Amino acid sequence: MGIAYKRVLLKLSGEALMGNLGYGIDPGIVQQIAQEVAEVINSGIQLAIVVGGGNIFRGVKGASAGMDRATADYIGMIATVMNAMTLQDALEKIGIPTRVQSAIAMQEVAEPYIRRRAIRHLEKGRVVVFGAGSGNPFFTTDTTAALRAAEIDADVIFKATKVDGIYDSDPHTNPEAKRYQTLTYGHVLTHDLRVMDSTAIALCKENNIPIIVFDLSVRGNINRAVMGEAVGTLVGG
Ligand code: UDP
Repeated sequence: MGIAYKRVLLKLSGEALMGNLGYGIDPGIVQQIAQEVAEVINSGIQLAIVVGGGNIFRGVKGASAGMDRATADYIGMIATVMNAMTLQDALEKIGIPTRVQSAIAMQEVAEPYIRRRAIRHLEKGRVVVFGAGSGNPFFTTDTTAALRAAEIDADVIFKATKVDGIYDSDPHTNPEAKRYQTLTYGHVLTHDLRVMDSTAIALCKENNIPIIVFDLSVRGNINRAVMGEAVGTLVGG
């Protein structure tokens, strides 16, 4: 099977970097993810990453504890920059040139988000990690993934999670739950299947960007997805 996608936007949740810890970053897991990313880059694929921040801080949680929502969201965005820098460090340690671009100005530690520059990095074989989400409160990093994928003209979004795809009910509580091989955007939206938030799904639908949802903890899965193997669930038109 040949390479199915040339430019990929990988969405990593903050929790993906947490491993089995209750909070923060597990360096071992980050190294593992970096190895998988390296395999993909070494096959000549262009890869951009949007990383979440839920392992450190979530705006909604801060707001429910009484904080101003926008302020809490900015803290959440800054948390994602820490994750982005952590990924950069792990990738560069194994020889993969990586640039972090932040949607909130942080020039001492990251480049500003500049679309054309991000594309140039990708063309040169560098990984681009987008930090600070979209730079706007009230959004999520899933929506950011859809937005950046559209901006850089990515062929596909890989949504790496803890489950091996999308089910018709929760596989943890229902042993009869069935996994979908493929789904339409419309089905995901009308059945409120919580793969990504509805803003993200709507943006992907509008721009015709397929989403592949798969289990990150299975070694080699990112590469399998790049090669067009049926891992997880494909959401498309
Ligand atoms: N966030 C935001 N705007 C964005 C992206 C993220 O305000 O465009 C904030 C929001 O508070 C969110 C936090 O950053 O809770 C961390 O991102 P997210 O929850 O999407 O991370 P994940 O669930 O992927 O770990």
